[in-house]
Amino acid sequence: MLADKDRIFTNLYGMHDRSLKGAKARGHWDGTAKLIQQGRDKIVETMKESGLRGRGGAGFPTGLKWSFMPKESDGRPAYLVVNADESEPGTCKDREIMRHDPHTLIEGCLIASFAMGAHACYIYIRGEYIREKEALQNAIDECYEAGLLGPNAAKSGWDFDLYLHHGAGAYICGEETALLESLEGKKGMPRMKPPFPAGAGLYGCPTTVNNVESIAVVPTILRRGADWFAGFGRPNNAGTKLFAISGHVNQPCVVEEAMSISFEELIEKHCGGIRGGWDNLKAVIPGGSSVPCIRGENMREAIMDFDYLREQGSGLGTAAVIVMDQSTDIIKAIWRLSRFYKHESCGQCTPCREGTGWMMRVMERLITGEAEVEEIDMLFDVTKQVEGHTICALGDAAAWPIQGLIRHFRDEIEDRIKHKRVPVAAE
Ligand code: SF4
Repeated sequence: MLADKDRIFTNLYGMHDRSLKGAKARGHWDGTAKLIQQGRDKIVETMKESGLRGRGGAGFPTGLKWSFMPKESDGRPAYLVVNADESEPGTCKDREIMRHDPHTLIEGCLIASFAMGAHACYIYIRGEYIREKEALQNAIDECYEAGLLGPNAAKSGWDFDLYLHHGAGAYICGEETALLESLEGKKGMPRMKPPFPAGAGLYGCPTTVNNVESIAVVPTILRRGADWFAGFGRPNNAGTKLFAISGHVNQPCVVEEAMSISFEELIEKHCGGIRGGWDNLKAVIPGGSSVPCIRGENMREAIMDFDYLREQGSGLGTAAVIVMDQSTDIIKAIWRLSRFYKHESCGQCTPCREGTGWMMRVMERLITGEAEVEEIDMLFDVTKQVEGHTICALGDAAAWPIQGLIRHFRDEIEDRIKHKRVPVAAE
């Protein structure tokens, strides 16, 4: 279990003072100017050495992403944009940072922006996060008053402004290019790539979009060293990580743990075990609603990191772990996700616009068993036609949960069709 001294987020549960004074007492904003004065190259190098992979779901190496930003400006400004549009069902980790430990993020924004040559950073926060927005804005105001933001921020010699932008509640605005469109005042619709944001992002200028957690861990990594961070987890899966465990465990929670912790340890140490015991575990969605589920019996030994879960045909995603016990009507649960993705499709590309609705309607009939067995293969086929054939990853996100369901619970779907038997809980 991760020792308290190794926790980056020391006020995750809001038990302590979240103000600037409290944050400073816990070691934040300590020697920030010195960290910045190491220089841009050194900071990017340290991030690469730390092995940090993006915490927003894709797991792309953060230091490498930063290094894509132009070293010399061609006259255009550069921007850092922080994606705080956390809207994936099951994912609720960034909100804890923003409402209880906001200074980790703000300090991270300053350092990361400097490392990418950006004098301005925008945090795009989810529309429904009203209290989180208030907490974060209060923390930003405190920093301006204390000279930690603004001209010569934190006496580092770097002029830096931080803006908090409140979204309107669309899931698709969590896709980085849709987020940029929305930030520019347009409809939140994903852009075709290339060009990638590092070449032409916000207002056509070089931009990096990073997740809240990815940025909030930066100051501590620089303070404690790349080796310290890289010391947690298996190679290529370094660091500490926030896990958000929901569903049928005895105590759902958000917890910071070492990467590559076993699923069993995570659940036993932090969640009080599975409701009704391990034999009652039916399925787990290990990385937020867009990754395929895994059967319960295959999860006990599972290692919670990017590589292991990918090898199992699923993914770590945002590390939002959704636990389902035997009382769950798994077909209905996955249908509910299909309905979500259908609702959130922006409608730009045909496979997603038409496919999400089509898949949802077939799923609807699978719940009651009023379908033909052949339709299971047809449905799987359609998910394959949607996957990888759309502008953004929402198409994949809609396809993967259904693929996971068919792969792991085909017997249950067939049984439902043959007997047209709906479990009591689903009626
Ligand atoms: Fe829009 Fe869906 Fe296409 Fe993404 S995949 S751009 S959400 S229609």
